[in-house]
Order: sequence, then C-alpha cells, then structure tokens
Amino acid sequence: MEQITCKNFSNEELVCKHCGKGKFNLFTKIKFQRMRDYLDLPIYVYSGCRCEYWNEKVGGSKNSSHIFTEDKESCAGDLSLVPERIKRDMTNYELFILQRAAQEAGFKRLGVHRRYLHIDDDPNKPANRMWLY
Ligand SMILES: [Zn+2]
Ligand SMILES: [Zn+2]
Repeated sequence: MEQITCKNFSNEELVCKHCGKGKFNLFTKIKFQRMRDYLDLPIYVYSGCRCEYWNEKVGGSKNSSHIFTEDKESCAGDLSLVPERIKRDMTNYELFILQRAAQEAGFKRLGVHRRYLHIDDDPNKPANRMWLY
C-alpha cells in the first residue's frame, strides 16, 4: 500500500479485512480526510480495499469499486459514524451529516445503508448517483 498517510485514515483501516493487503486511490483517501476535517468527528471504515476473494465472500458486486488487483486501485469506502463493533444503525441525522460531508468533499456517488455510507470515486461509473441498499 502506498506510503502517503492521511492524518485520520491509516493504511491499516483501508486494507482488505481478510488478507491485510490493498491498494487504495490516493485522491479518494484525501477526500475522506476532507470529510473528516469538515465533520470534526471520528469516521469508521467498515470496508475499504477488498481482494477479489473477499469481495465475493462479502457479497460485493462483481465490478465493485472496492476491489483492488495487481493493476487496479480500490476507490471505495464504506464509512460510518458508528464503530462497527457497536452494531447499531446510524440515526437519520448521522446519515445526513455524513452524506453532507461526502458532498462537501466532492464525492458524487453514494450508496446509503443504515450502518454505513458507501462512497466511491470510480471514474468508470456514472457520477451523480445515490442509491439505497
Ligand atoms: Zn483480501
Ligand atoms: Zn461499499
């Protein structure tokens, strides 16, 4: 994983949860940091990089933006204001401010789950999209 670090997002948080490997797009990461700075609240990463094996295991779509390969970086994160271990949905307000921060940081593709907000920067997918899980 590239060595450039962001203040509040460690490489450990963004690597694949199964194999600990990953390649994450630097610009996406910088925008995550922008969200963090805008909100001034901790942001928890539910999912960042996924190897193809792990993506399939967690039921990700075949062309998921989370996937990294030898020659492809991941450019997606599932972010939440609630730590995963707490196992609760975000409140409507938490979802609202997280979504607001994503918009503020310049993201144009958002998937809304009660537990997290999927955010990706995939240049090969249509911009200005928002969907529900
Ligand atoms: Zn993996
Ligand atoms: Zn996702």
